[in-house]
Amino acid sequence: MSTSANKKKLVIGNWKMNGSSAANAALLRGLLPVISSFERVEIALCPPYPYLATVADLLDDSDVVLGAQNLSTELSGAHTGEVSGSMLGDIGCRFVLVGHSERRALYGEDDACVAKKFATALQAGLIPVLCVGETLAQRQSGETQTVVTTQLHAVLKAVGIDELAKGVIAYEPVWAIGTGETATPEQAQAVHRHIRQWLADHDCVAADCRILYGGSVKADNAERLFNQPDIDGGLIGGASLDAMSFAAICEAAQAKPTI
Ligand code: PEP
Repeated sequence: MSTSANKKKLVIGNWKMNGSSAANAALLRGLLPVISSFERVEIALCPPYPYLATVADLLDDSDVVLGAQNLSTELSGAHTGEVSGSMLGDIGCRFVLVGHSERRALYGEDDACVAKKFATALQAGLIPVLCVGETLAQRQSGETQTVVTTQLHAVLKAVGIDELAKGVIAYEPVWAIGTGETATPEQAQAVHRHIRQWLADHDCVAADCRILYGGSVKADNAERLFNQPDIDGGLIGGASLDAMSFAAICEAAQAKPTI
């Protein structure tokens, strides 16, 4: 099973907790002139919260869309320090990451919390990007598919398959994030195929769902990853902070529309 014909790939840059007003402006000055001619790939950038509005302005004349790295489980009210999905939509976000492994590992976000954030994002009209993936120990003990399925199932249970399919899924093996160690194209493809089959088994039009790969994607490995039939694009951390690297990854994605 592969994805539907000639679907544009999606590449999302996750800047994590990096940047400054000056650094972001410089990055976009280098990046936007290059990627603005890429019409066969959808591109999104997820800056830290304080820079969202400024980056939204800087992206105004481009086709690059805005995303956020996180959102509150709550809709509004007495939740000091939290940011709601509707606020993110209000300032122009289209996507929001949920369940990134750093949030799961460092900030105690369990499957129930991730599922609530996924539902809240949809309620706010955002497209949630659901991150799933196994640790090295889980891979080594043969649990990869079970871990990924359990993470997907938590969201399925909360929102149902039709709502789940409105999001994007990002397979991000934890051992490959920020480590320089990338899943081989074959390893990534195997998990992507498993996810797509899982979607199909739940009566979803699996071919229409976008499944991104994330984990040390760089300019020199992007093309081989994007060439896999079930990889619909990438979620890019470190390499999204360098204009030329990120542009090269986007170029690799547009050169490989999903067949
Ligand atoms: C990420 O933060 O989602 C990620 C994949 O990071 P990196 O590309 O740096 O591994």
